[in-house]
Amino acid sequence: MTIVTVPTTVPFNDLNLHHQRLQPALNEAFARLLRDSSFVRGPEVDAFERDFAARLGVKHCISCGNGTDALYITMRALGVRQGDEVITTAHTWIATSETITQTGARVVFCDTDAYTFTIDPAAVEAKVTPRTRGIIPVHLYGQPADMGPILELAGRHGLWVIEDCAQAHMATYRGGIVGSFGDAATFSFYPGKNLGALGDAGAMVTGRDDLAEWMTLFARHGGKGDHQIEGINSRMDGLQGAVLRLKLPHLDQWTAARRLVAARYDVGLAGIGDVVTPRVAEGRTHVYHLYVIRTARRDALRQYLRERGIETVLNYPRALPFYPAYAYLGHQPEEFPNAYRSQYEILSLPIYPEITDAQQNYVIESIRSFFQ
Ligand SMILES: *Cc1c(COP(=O)(O)O)cnc(C)c1O
Repeated sequence: MTIVTVPTTVPFNDLNLHHQRLQPALNEAFARLLRDSSFVRGPEVDAFERDFAARLGVKHCISCGNGTDALYITMRALGVRQGDEVITTAHTWIATSETITQTGARVVFCDTDAYTFTIDPAAVEAKVTPRTRGIIPVHLYGQPADMGPILELAGRHGLWVIEDCAQAHMATYRGGIVGSFGDAATFSFYPGKNLGALGDAGAMVTGRDDLAEWMTLFARHGGKGDHQIEGINSRMDGLQGAVLRLKLPHLDQWTAARRLVAARYDVGLAGIGDVVTPRVAEGRTHVYHLYVIRTARRDALRQYLRERGIETVLNYPRALPFYPAYAYLGHQPEEFPNAYRSQYEILSLPIYPEITDAQQNYVIESIRSFFQ
């Protein structure tokens, strides 16, 4: 029997290569960290918080352990509690919805727009009840959600808005940067995100002094030496602060590289089979955390690419209402037609700043040959 192993010619991401290029600066940061022994928070983290807030043009940045904690802490700061309802999209990573449940509130899922994969504002309007407290739009895959109508309806109903920016560092909507629209916004710096640490890390940003003060206390045991409230332990490591701080000045260049990769896919995949390439809505800029195509032959295409050493991912295999974790809500596919259809058609192709033209051409040619 012969076993055929297919070498990975195009990985989904290449964090090894990404960090090789930063090796001298990273070594210097590691040496400094060991010398100063500021392992949890410390001056590097303080400096990163200042740099990141300045880059976004928001008043406060409060770092924390990860992007999931950032959502939970922000909702607690906004006073979310048992009996409340919080609206979010049916198509996102589970962190967005599981944190709603953690606060004691009820998750209310909404369908997505068919082309941008982001929450449909008309669907949000239909789900508002007297118990609704807020909305969490997600700037999914790197494209901003339709913030104009969302902010308008939130204002009309007296709801708060938290932007989940985990996939969209520096994306823009009508000229404004994501993270600057809602009452607060949350970021993840998980290693594979557009701005990634060497482990878990996250942050909240807000223009509201009251929220910033409460989040700072809550994330750090209610205040060091003066426990004004009971909190949690969600802090950024000194190492992550140092790494994020040295990476931040490179982010625009990495985003530009991602956009170039996306543009080459857009052109190379145009007119092949039933492939639909990502559409960027008018007035928005995309930062391509993920490059997600759709095709009715998704599973066969994915297998074909796998046999040719090309890694792809499903973001995500199902819309959230259809996972066992949410069976208790009793939802039906007809309630979320776009999100439901997406789960059978979406496919994330390799995209990262370091992917070579040759690798990308190979992906494009492989997709072309599959459909021939
Ligand atoms: C990654 C991600 C999160 C959670 O971030 P972690 O740092 O992994 O906890 C939340 N929301 C979305 C949309 C994400 O992609």
